[in-house]
Amino acid sequence: MDVGIKDGRIISLRQHLPNDPNVLSAGQLIQAEGRVLLPGFIEPHIHLDKAFLLNQMTQDANSVEQAIASTLELKRSFTKKDIEARSIQVIQQAIAHGVTHMRCHAEIDPIVGLLSLEVMLKLKEHYRDQITLQIVAFPQEGIQKQPGTEELLIQALQLGADVVGGITYQDGDLQEHLTTVFDLAKAFNKPLDLHVDFSDDPSMLAILTIIRMTHAYGMQGRVSVGHLTSLGSLPYGEARTICQSIAEAGIHVMSLPATDLYLGGRGDDHRHRRGLTPVSLLLEQGVNVIYGSNNIQNPFTPFGTADPLDIGMLLAQTAYMGSKQDVVTLVEMVTTRAAQALELTNYGLHIGADADLVLLEASNLRSAVYERAPRRFVWKRGQLVASTVKQTTFYHTQMSS
Ligand SMILES: [Zn+2]
Repeated sequence: MDVGIKDGRIISLRQHLPNDPNVLSAGQLIQAEGRVLLPGFIEPHIHLDKAFLLNQMTQDANSVEQAIASTLELKRSFTKKDIEARSIQVIQQAIAHGVTHMRCHAEIDPIVGLLSLEVMLKLKEHYRDQITLQIVAFPQEGIQKQPGTEELLIQALQLGADVVGGITYQDGDLQEHLTTVFDLAKAFNKPLDLHVDFSDDPSMLAILTIIRMTHAYGMQGRVSVGHLTSLGSLPYGEARTICQSIAEAGIHVMSLPATDLYLGGRGDDHRHRRGLTPVSLLLEQGVNVIYGSNNIQNPFTPFGTADPLDIGMLLAQTAYMGSKQDVVTLVEMVTTRAAQALELTNYGLHIGADADLVLLEASNLRSAVYERAPRRFVWKRGQLVASTVKQTTFYHTQMSS
């Protein structure tokens, strides 16, 4: 296909004809030569403010609790400058990897106050022509546990946070925590994005309360949940019933395999579970499932380069997603399915959509994902924002006969 772009939007999509006079009249012509063009990648769940902390850590973290505790300590010395520098490092990596939209969780608590949110708002504005940032006001340390947090969340939303965040495994009273965040989402008319059931304990099922409340608040389609790994430890039949209810409530599920594989399943001394969201079961029951990086080089996830295809590949390898159809699903998860969860408009490869595009050095989807093909060009609303050329030189490669 030939793609025509004008004023940042896709204005034509048609069969490639070698000597089409309209194409030749374009101001700039890029020969893609059969390579894969996709709508820009969507990173639906990432923490910029606590990325790249490895050098500051005094000891390794080996559980969710240790990762939270370790980050809490490091947080005390966060400064605006330091949050900004580490966030920019991730944003630039992400842009180079073809990411055009990113939902970022900003920590909101009495320790950092609104520091992180202020940096995110500044970066959102600064990078608006390169990447669209959505900011989640995220009470990582709990709401009731840290008095003053609810007031800070309200201020964050008044200052321009796009999404209400929450976490089901920090406060003692789950119902109270969820009532606070559902009420805020309703009052400010914002989507809700929750960290949910991040555990190997199958009895941890806050998702059931979330399903109920999603219906009660009429928020079907506007609630996303990240992790949801304890569901993967439930017996199949019980898990399947819950997956059906998640689909009925229109809740989006964000699998975060890099963090979940690293921290999950560690309590098992044999038959190690790998601590993943049950992705295939959720998909099979019609749930909108997507995947995110979550963290970049910190106590929760010591890995990562903000490349969504690394995470897609990780999920493919660990969730048995290797079929020809699976790769289509993996690509939808990082594009159109994620766009649904993030409530993006004008997104996709169709006429009228924003020309947020990524051209991969691959001629089919399998090589695009499996080789995590270089992102030759990345465009945001029709403007080139990054290009990558991978070059390998071989020496002494002649076969001796
Ligand atoms: Zn997270």
